Amino acid sequence: MKKASKNSGFDTTAIDRSVRPQDDFYTYSNGTWLKKTKIPENESRWGSFIMLRVDTEKKLRRIVERVKKGRYPAGTPEQMIRDFYVSGLDEKTREKLGTKPLLPWLTRVQKLKHVSEITPLIAAMHRVGIGGLWGGLIDQDAKNSEHYLLYFYQDGIGMPDRDYYLKDDAESKRVKEAYVKHMHNLHKLFGISAKETKESVETVMRMETALAKASMTKEDARDSEKIWHKHSIAQLQKLAPSIDWKRYMKDSGAPQERTVNVMQPDYMRAMSKMLASVPLADWKVYLRWQLMDDTAGLLSKKFVREQFNYYGKALSGNKKMKPLWRRALGATNGSLGELLGQIYVKEHFPAEAKIKMSALVDDLFAAYEKRIASLDWMTGPTKKKAVQKLRMMNRKIGYPDKWKGYRGLSVRADDFFGNIMRSAEFEHRRQIKKLGKPIDRTEWLMDPQVVNAYCSFNMNEIVFPAAILQPPFFSLHGDDAVNYGGIGSVIGHEITHGFDDQGAKFDGKGNMKSWWTAEDKKRFTAKAKILKEQFDKYEVADGVKVNGQLTLGENIADLGGASIAFDALMMHLARSGSRKDIEGFTPEQRFFFGLSLFEREITRPEAEKTRALTDPHSPSKFRVNGPASNLPEFYAAFGVARGDKLYREPKQRAKIW
Ligand SMILES: [Zn+2]
Repeated sequence: MKKASKNSGFDTTAIDRSVRPQDDFYTYSNGTWLKKTKIPENESRWGSFIMLRVDTEKKLRRIVERVKKGRYPAGTPEQMIRDFYVSGLDEKTREKLGTKPLLPWLTRVQKLKHVSEITPLIAAMHRVGIGGLWGGLIDQDAKNSEHYLLYFYQDGIGMPDRDYYLKDDAESKRVKEAYVKHMHNLHKLFGISAKETKESVETVMRMETALAKASMTKEDARDSEKIWHKHSIAQLQKLAPSIDWKRYMKDSGAPQERTVNVMQPDYMRAMSKMLASVPLADWKVYLRWQLMDDTAGLLSKKFVREQFNYYGKALSGNKKMKPLWRRALGATNGSLGELLGQIYVKEHFPAEAKIKMSALVDDLFAAYEKRIASLDWMTGPTKKKAVQKLRMMNRKIGYPDKWKGYRGLSVRADDFFGNIMRSAEFEHRRQIKKLGKPIDRTEWLMDPQVVNAYCSFNMNEIVFPAAILQPPFFSLHGDDAVNYGGIGSVIGHEITHGFDDQGAKFDGKGNMKSWWTAEDKKRFTAKAKILKEQFDKYEVADGVKVNGQLTLGENIADLGGASIAFDALMMHLARSGSRKDIEGFTPEQRFFFGLSLFEREITRPEAEKTRALTDPHSPSKFRVNGPASNLPEFYAAFGVARGDKLYREPKQRAKIW
């Protein structure tokens, strides 16, 4: 990382000259690094992104360690940060407590006398962030973005995707076996007899498999239209009569709400039928498992280790657990994100970064508008609306203007379990309170110390937290070509989400409303299909392939983002007259180095396979070679010709934005 920033972001030491850029640009530009680098034992992936995340964690560690040394009045931000972190480090108390923090919950499950008592129990679990059967969230009403709406989604299974329960290929079997083993181990750690464990594990697997069958596929679950089913509470009561929904709403703190979007009605119906037919004894076993698995990571060492064995090792291939300080920091960060974030940006986010970033974003928007105007496949009326949406898109850079408050949250240095529960409940109340209030347009859905970015369809905005605005993605005084290839492509990527296969369904005001002519929609779908089919062919590992439908939105965003960022660089170079070659590479070529550097990563096969099945992002290599193989700008920069591995016949290239 240091070398890259000294090198103004342009790093030729990673090049592998035994690979031709025209055949595999990702490996050409990163190959030496890829060969030399080993994934640290406590990571499942290693590369630009993760290294920046780890680097940010180190900065945050310095903050919490400094705060830790002080003593502060109760309820102050410093007291909360300090005591949360200290409680995370305090393994001694956790050893002493064993399973005690969870006992009241387990007793409550044991004492259930009737299926109807499941409703208040589930409501109580959801309030403190423990999953079970379904989940709830507050977001803007997708068709009326001026209002908040409650959404219910399917959440009945323990493995990362329904396919693991229903499919029989080698990878599904491997994960299933690991999950069953994990269930056995955890039951044993909770002191449950071998006989009871065996029966319980079978029961949970049977019930979760039934819930998996009723669950919507992940491809459908990311389709905004397929998850849009507004219900009145009365309609929901008819759909899923085994739950007392009025009671659930009251217990959740929203007795006044009359409507909710049920994202997967078929799932809710099936779950309700199961509640009516499966004996209470089985539900007790199922709920006990949810509680144990969701909270074991907050208990003593042996429980934490078991959670690591399944989630860290089996699912992600990590060899070693993260050190205690990183886990304690992660918990503090997760619960007090904007408190820690305030200190982080004061110390690590220079004002110039925001200014330079704003200029970059301006360039990207200007380039986008030009692109839309010159699209050969879109009709005039739709173009006009696309530009309208683009101009209405809001941007947030660095950190929020208005910080979230944490007043009233009780944080104790000796109560890690309680801190997590109270914080989850505090956030639950914060969310529920939004219902009926005007939309808070200052809100951020990501903390400033998170190395990531996002696009919100309903808000029609793009958001770039401070932590992603650092080398190697963005260097204040670095090579502009690399900056436009790196952070520029990220900006273009996020803008394009507003125009990807899902984002394009939302208008400038953030409402799900068709603004396309039928003809344009047909052409857009056909163009997206080319990209889907290209990605379906890419192989990840051991026969596991990329899922072109699941990754379609991200791939459209990658392709559009790179195209627009490239245009923006050309505009910038023309304006500034700063075109020059560095180490024999043109700015056009360095742009693609920037793009590739952003994606540079090695991943353990376990994580690669889990992610191929669950992550809407394609693996790094294809996020570089995929767009490159479609971009005439790449062909021109590196002289790609027929016969080269990345070459595609013009007709087979995808060009959307
Ligand atoms: Zn994305």
